[in-house]
Amino acid sequence: MIYKMSFDINKIRSDFPILKRKINGSNFIYFDNAATSQKPNIVIDSISDYYKNYNSNIHRGVHTISQEATDAYENARAKIQKHFNIRNSHEIIFTSGTTHSINLVANGFQDLLSDKDEIIISGLEHHSNIVPWQMMTEKNGAKIKIIPINENGELNMKAYDNILNSKTKLVFVNHVSNALGTVNPIKTIIEKAHKVNAAVLIDGAQASAHFKTDLQELDADFYTTSAHKLCGPTGIGMLFGKEKWLKKLPPYQGGGEMISDVTFEKTTYAELPHKFEAGTPNVSGAIAFGIALDYLNEIGFKNIYNYESSLLQYTTEKLKLIPNLKIYGESKDKTCVISFNIDGIHAYDIGALLDKFGIAVRTGQHCAQPIMDHFGISGTVRVSLSFYNTKKEIDVLYNSLKQAISMLS
Ligand SMILES: *Cc1c(COP(=O)(O)O)cnc(C)c1O
Repeated sequence: MIYKMSFDINKIRSDFPILKRKINGSNFIYFDNAATSQKPNIVIDSISDYYKNYNSNIHRGVHTISQEATDAYENARAKIQKHFNIRNSHEIIFTSGTTHSINLVANGFQDLLSDKDEIIISGLEHHSNIVPWQMMTEKNGAKIKIIPINENGELNMKAYDNILNSKTKLVFVNHVSNALGTVNPIKTIIEKAHKVNAAVLIDGAQASAHFKTDLQELDADFYTTSAHKLCGPTGIGMLFGKEKWLKKLPPYQGGGEMISDVTFEKTTYAELPHKFEAGTPNVSGAIAFGIALDYLNEIGFKNIYNYESSLLQYTTEKLKLIPNLKIYGESKDKTCVISFNIDGIHAYDIGALLDKFGIAVRTGQHCAQPIMDHFGISGTVRVSLSFYNTKKEIDVLYNSLKQAISMLS
C-alpha cells in the first residue's frame, strides 16, 4: 500500500470515519486514546464482511463457511504470532482482553502458590492488574509487595532490588502506564526476576498501539494486550504465555472446545491453545484484531513512533505555557499521555467544558487510584494522543483550555 513511503496524515485521518463527526457544533477532537482507540474502515468492514459472508462457528463444521471462518480465525492468530515474534502459535490464547488475560493467569496461579510465597506488582498498575492478585492472595495467602514510584512517575528500581528475593514467585508490571504514559524498564525487570526464578507477566495494553514488542527477545513469561487499544474492536485480546507455563496452569473455564475427551467420570483437556478457549470465541473480533495489526504495520511502527514523539513534545511544550498547569509523570521514556491539573480548578470541570468545544479527554483516576494517592490528588485531566491526531488539534486544545480556565476562575 501507499503508507510505507511517507506518513500521510490526511490519508490516515480519512481512514477513520468517526473523525468526521461534529460534537456540540465543533470538529470532533479525540484525545482519549488511552481508554480506547478509534477504528479505521478496514477494521469495521472486516466485521461486517464476516457476518455477511462467512459467519459460522469454528473448529467443528465440515462445511465450507465453517472452514473459511476457522481459517480466518487461525490466520489472525498467525498475524499476532508474527507481530510479537512469538515462538509457537499455541502460546497465544484469545481472550476478551487484558482484564480477562490477567484473571486467567491469576486464577491459574492460585493453587500453585502458598502463604510462603511473595508476588511483586508495580505502583503504576491499572486496577485490572491489582484486583485479581488481591483476590488470588486472599485465597492462597501469598504476600503482595509493591515497587514504589518516584516524583517523575517512574518505578524505583532500587526498591525493586530490595523486595525481590527467593520467595518471589511472580512479578506483574505494565509495559506502559495508562495514567502517566511511563514506559517501564521491563527488560531489566524480567532479567532480575528470572535470576530468582520468578515468572513475569507484562500488561502490554497501553504499549501495543505505540511500538512493536519482540516477545522472544524480551523473554517475558506472559504478555497481554487488548485489541481495542490498537484500532481493533472491543471484546477481544490476547494472552501470550510460554508453553511451559500454559501447560502448568489449570484451565480457567470449562466448556466446549477446551476438552479432548469427556465422560461423566473424567474429562481430559484439549491441547494448547484450546485448553484456554472454552466455548464459541469472538470470531469476528479475532479476525478484526488481525486486520488492525495489518493496518498499523502498513503505516509502520517506526513512523507511528516518530510522529507520536513529536506530537508529545509539542503538546508538552504548549501545555507548559499555561500558568499553574502541572503535568504528572515526566519520565524520560514515555508514550503520548499527558496527565495534568490546573491549580484551583477541578479536573472534571475542565473535562466537561472541553467537551462543549468538541474535545474528548479523560478526567479522574484512570483506573489507577494508587498513583493518584501517590501524588496526593483525586484525579487528573488526561490527554492521550494517537498517530491520527495533529498539532492543529493541539492548538485548538490550547485555546479551548485557556477559554475554559477564564470561565472557571
Ligand atoms: C486498558 C488497560 C487495561 C484494561 O484493558 P481492558 O481491555 O479493559 O481489559 C489494563 N492495563 C492497562 C495498562 C490498560 O491501559
